Amino acid sequence: MAEAERQAGELVEGMTPQERLHLVCGSGAAMGLNAIPRLGIPALNMVDASGGVRIVGTVAEAAYRRTTAFPCPMLLAATWNPELARQMARAIGEECRVGGIHILLGPGMNIYRMSRCGRNFEYMGEDPFLAGRMIAGYVQGLQETGVVATLKHFAANNAELKRRGSNSVVSERALREIYFPAFQAGIEAGAWAVMSAYNQLNGIWCGENRWLLTDILRGEMGFQGLCMTDWQATWHGDRVAASGTDLEMPEGAALKFDRDKVFGTPEVDRMACNVLRTLIRAGVYEAESAGTFRQPGWVDRYPEHVAVAGQVNAEGIVLLKNDGILPLDERFVGALLVTGNAAERAALAGGGSAHVAGYDLKTYAQAVQEGFPAATVVVAPTPSDADVRQADAVLVFSGYSTRYEDGPERHEGECLDRPFELLDEDLIVRCTRLNPRTVVAVVVGGGVRMEWADRAGAIVQPFLGGQTAAPVLVDVLRGRINPSGKLPFTIERRFEDSPAFGYDRNPFLRPVPGLVDRLPSEPAYWADEYFRSPDGEQACVYDIEYREDVFVGYRGYDRRGMEVRFPFGHGLSYTRFEFSGLRVENENSGVRIQVEVANAGQRPGAEVVQVYVHDVASSVERPPQELKGFAKVHLAPGESRTVNIVLGADSFRFWHPITKMWTEEPGMFEIRVGASSRDIRLRSIIERRLP
Ligand code: BGC
Repeated sequence: MAEAERQAGELVEGMTPQERLHLVCGSGAAMGLNAIPRLGIPALNMVDASGGVRIVGTVAEAAYRRTTAFPCPMLLAATWNPELARQMARAIGEECRVGGIHILLGPGMNIYRMSRCGRNFEYMGEDPFLAGRMIAGYVQGLQETGVVATLKHFAANNAELKRRGSNSVVSERALREIYFPAFQAGIEAGAWAVMSAYNQLNGIWCGENRWLLTDILRGEMGFQGLCMTDWQATWHGDRVAASGTDLEMPEGAALKFDRDKVFGTPEVDRMACNVLRTLIRAGVYEAESAGTFRQPGWVDRYPEHVAVAGQVNAEGIVLLKNDGILPLDERFVGALLVTGNAAERAALAGGGSAHVAGYDLKTYAQAVQEGFPAATVVVAPTPSDADVRQADAVLVFSGYSTRYEDGPERHEGECLDRPFELLDEDLIVRCTRLNPRTVVAVVVGGGVRMEWADRAGAIVQPFLGGQTAAPVLVDVLRGRINPSGKLPFTIERRFEDSPAFGYDRNPFLRPVPGLVDRLPSEPAYWADEYFRSPDGEQACVYDIEYREDVFVGYRGYDRRGMEVRFPFGHGLSYTRFEFSGLRVENENSGVRIQVEVANAGQRPGAEVVQVYVHDVASSVERPPQELKGFAKVHLAPGESRTVNIVLGADSFRFWHPITKMWTEEPGMFEIRVGASSRDIRLRSIIERRLP
């Protein structure tokens, strides 16, 4: 640390003010950091993101023939297996090394506040504890390969609608309890970089927000790495420089616009010093200069990467409902009707900067044909009623488009929010009415409206699984894989039930003078990402009020005692698990939990033991229960195991809105152990005293 500090200081000393500014403005279309050859500082490369290496940008396009399309992060989160997160990120890191990519622009971890957010698939769900555990695994795995992880988007970037023009209005308590912890976990896991968000937070652009980036991120959260802006997300160069940002992406437009105010200032020196110090510590400059960073030979490892991607699918696909129709017999003889807009889609990845094309692609329709060789498989995008009735089973694969050009009502991905209802809703309603042996696969990164759920024979959510998605899902359908994924979010019955309902209706607009002039003219969608004043002259900001405060996801639905379609943590198996013998005791400053889990069915399978804490009495209203521990156990039929889970002292505290401090109050807490947030099997009360 001290050595890196010294080296960075020396390098900055030797730089001209022009070179310092050059370093803290990104390298534009090349996606990365500028070189300063005179001082032996090489250029560094960046690429998106959390589900694999996206081949875009001059370097990536030149370096790769192909990269593996891994499952989207939401599917990874649904495995509830941090070790798998580590393995997947390690594989992605190795692919970064193949092409000479030093900085991965991920993982993303914004909390799933509303189902319609177009980027949910890139994130890790609605619960900060689960997201934090998965992110920690991801960061460790990625950085083990020498590639820099970038935690994004800091903070409260939970909708995509006009994303450069939204202001998230969030209480400090909600930030601390819900929106910051996954970032904290990533920082504690050692992440070298953070990317700030497009939106304003409580009236200030995140990339210009000194409270957020200096007081909180560095001061309280202890982040010592490199903080970059999102792409063209900031407007005032002097505020960027003063905020704690170190690097303005993609090419420092705001810093250049306000050159007079920033050129030669100590703020820019600080930025340059932080950039250099971090990347020296991360070892990337050294490896690049030595010519050892790029490892084209590691393409040999792609088959292992594909295996990891398949394993994530195998553990993450969530079986939401099963009337007994699944698993289908793979020797199935009869008519299998395959339909839905995702049935013949090859690229099973979300849209936008996270999109990874992959290779050796297989559609669901092809995988069904291969997986059920004795069946008569009919693929029909628009089957007649007779086709549906006559089929022995109907498989509907339904999702959204990943093409931005298809517009907001059809698209799942960056820049747009999506509808709550599936595009194929009419088709699904028709199939489930006409044929009870209909299996619906929801090929989406979040929750959708499922008013048809009661009539479906089975519902499965494979999310966006990348290039291994289709064969693995078919293995789940035919019982070769026993599903063990659990929902990382709640699926509400109606979008009206969501705390975010109405966020897009008549937003109150506040013009931001001068903003229009600062926007680059290319590409055109940048200008499209904020509202305009009625006369079209001014760019406007609109507020998204987080009125539900800390009551996000199950915390809110539980508080309101509301029925949901499928609860947080839910996911079925082809076997049955029994929980018994709960023991709970105080240990050191935390609590030790022991519980016996048995596989009481006929097949091997895995269960996620989930531990929720309920504060019996508190001076401040708290969520009825919060996830504070979990463990995934794989069990053979008849096998049982004692599972140990330790809750840290921080599992009992809350952020006090008046004293503005983390607070643990002594008293009784109920420890709930279950298979989902609404399938609590065992409970025990424990008394906590203050040390
Ligand atoms: C996205 C980021 C991404 C960046 C670079 C932005 O539009 O919000 O997540 O890393 O583009 O592609």
